[in-house]
Amino acid sequence: MKKVNSKRTPLYRDSGFWLRNIPTIKKAFSDEVEHPADPELYIYSRYRNPTVVETEQELSIIEGCQWSLLTQSGLAAIDVALSIFQMAHTPQKWLFFTEIYGGTNSFIDKVVIGRRGMDVIRFAPQGEAYSLVEFENEMARSRPHVVYFEAISNPMLIVADVPEIISIAKKYGANVIVDNTFATPYSLKPLDWGADIVIHSATKYFAGHGNLTAGVVSGNDSDLLKQAIEYRKLVGHMLSPDDAYRLLDYLKTFNLRIAKHFDNAKIVAEYLLQHPFVERVLYPSLPNHPTHAIAQKVLANGYGGIVTFDIKGNSFAEKQQRCNTFIERVTDKIQLVPTLGDADTILMPVEPVWGDKFPFPGMVRLSIGIEHASYIISILENGLKKL
Ligand SMILES: *Cc1c(COP(=O)(O)O)cnc(C)c1O
Repeated sequence: MKKVNSKRTPLYRDSGFWLRNIPTIKKAFSDEVEHPADPELYIYSRYRNPTVVETEQELSIIEGCQWSLLTQSGLAAIDVALSIFQMAHTPQKWLFFTEIYGGTNSFIDKVVIGRRGMDVIRFAPQGEAYSLVEFENEMARSRPHVVYFEAISNPMLIVADVPEIISIAKKYGANVIVDNTFATPYSLKPLDWGADIVIHSATKYFAGHGNLTAGVVSGNDSDLLKQAIEYRKLVGHMLSPDDAYRLLDYLKTFNLRIAKHFDNAKIVAEYLLQHPFVERVLYPSLPNHPTHAIAQKVLANGYGGIVTFDIKGNSFAEKQQRCNTFIERVTDKIQLVPTLGDADTILMPVEPVWGDKFPFPGMVRLSIGIEHASYIISILENGLKKL
């Protein structure tokens, strides 16, 4: 049986595809993998796979861009994105914002610097927000070739002035990569503001069910696509067809889920704000958030699904103990899970993970799920009672 009238692209698990004769082989291999003359002619799934291609096309529609490539993880996507701009014959400097995912920071320290010997500059926020003046000074001083930042930081939820940062970076001739995992294209599309590459940990909101690891690299420029495809093939960062197939199912509810995550997060943030045992709530929709005005400007459709808050206490030890009590009370229903963007509300205590960087023993990061908002609030209410 060759073809049936199935509604969607099937799950093609072939590792290598059937090339029927020598002319077909020649045709397949003479075409560049990235621009196949016959897109139906597949060779080998580490290069290109029809199920993966279909999911990538759906992601490009969501991101509103020309092309998207899937990788086995968000970090593989970051590796691919950086590789696009890394050419050994031109010595380069890369600038990374400091407020980025911990795994990305370790990748920079141990791989980019430690193993590849790249010249790296870090750009830190001034207090609780990024200063555009300081950023421009740094660009003028160090002239990096690549600028890398996250649109919404973790766990303090600093919202970057994405259009301004891109335009300053471009003024100094840098290429810009944005990790858009937290904001998602539902609320922010950095490519529309001239970013060269957007990456996502698809493990988070794109997959959205806490049971799939994947990454995405997206862009508009076809030369960058060529570089990205070549590197993904060379290092074997391709996503498996099974995972691509499952991800495609999850993408069908992407807009519905994200709307609910973001609406719920805002409701929960407002609930926590008035709670007597809560010292502070960090959520960009709240007028007291240090980057509220920037968030209003750059986020089109809601302020994200993460809410960070501090439990009150008179000392480090009391805050720590109350935070522990809170976690024990809610953990049947809101579990301590070190990820985010799950359909279920989950949490992470901040101090045990970030330690000296965020030494706040009462601080909790909630990744708000898509349950009914009143259900989430009832669990939090119980957890915060008479602490
Ligand atoms: C999780 C995460 C990553 C890494 O993604 P993996 O899928 O775990 O490799 C990168 N950036 C951000 C913002 C993340 O939250």
